[in-house]
Amino acid sequence: MPNVPWLLDVLRGAGVTCVTEGDWVNRYRPGSFDPIGVLWHHTAATSSASNPHPALNVCINGRPDLTGPLCQALVDYNGVFHLISAGRANHAGASRGSGPIPAGDGNTLMIGWEIDYNGVNQQMTSAQYNASIAATAAVLTRLGRNSTYARGHRETSTTGKIDPSFIDLDVMRADVAARMSGGGGTWSSIVDNTTSGRFTASANWGTSSYSTQRYGTDYRFADPVAASDPAWYKFAVPTAGAYRVDVWYAANAGYNSAAPYIVATTSGNQTVNVDQRTGGGAWRSIGTFNLPAGDANRVAVSRWTNGTGLVIADAVRLTRL
Ligand SMILES: [Zn+2]
Repeated sequence: MPNVPWLLDVLRGAGVTCVTEGDWVNRYRPGSFDPIGVLWHHTAATSSASNPHPALNVCINGRPDLTGPLCQALVDYNGVFHLISAGRANHAGASRGSGPIPAGDGNTLMIGWEIDYNGVNQQMTSAQYNASIAATAAVLTRLGRNSTYARGHRETSTTGKIDPSFIDLDVMRADVAARMSGGGGTWSSIVDNTTSGRFTASANWGTSSYSTQRYGTDYRFADPVAASDPAWYKFAVPTAGAYRVDVWYAANAGYNSAAPYIVATTSGNQTVNVDQRTGGGAWRSIGTFNLPAGDANRVAVSRWTNGTGLVIADAVRLTRL
């Protein structure tokens, strides 16, 4: 039975962008469906801005060894929910029991999100994460269950599934709980030097994967120069307010002793110099800044410094306070 025909309204009510895929309400597997929880997956397909939902067709139609639909919704690269089924889907297999979810038929017990990223050398995008948190909180509220009823497939699988990769599921549940408690949830967004459409640097910036402290597959580097040639990170800041800015770089004795990070705040540019010889391979806060709303270049790494050594531009994260 299409037991969750309310899914579209509930998700849209939570501010989640949705599209419906054909007759999604009446596309489902025979058998029981009485969900009490939400299960997160990754598809193992490589998504991108130009190919945001590579696994959509297989999630709708299934594959030779498994009949579709394979989830209730697919979450694309941009965080858009594609609604595929309002009934039972082949996503969970058997549950071994996890938290309050008992052992049994996972496809009866849980609504599944297939989040479209490869999980090997590609992480979930911030847009996918934020939308999945909002959707999970809204559905669990509708089901009358708390955040412990949100699980990852690797927690319930009886066959060694590893999805969703790169996600701390306890942090996920804490974020769902925060959203359910009426907090708007903490908005956070990461732009890496490889994030499509959000990182800009001139050809004077080289590309390297030398240091294992890199974020993602590689990072950019350039010699210091007394000229303006910054690498920019563009963010869609949701509301005007205070944001913590964290930076990630690979550290090395040959990297810059005073790399200037420029933050474009509501009151003009502010610069924080960071010693990139140490403290790499982790998020490092450079402070809290008031930012205007809107999608714009918001943080830069400048080459214009008296510091010595290569200036590194890797990843930047904004978090609303
Ligand atoms: Zn899975």
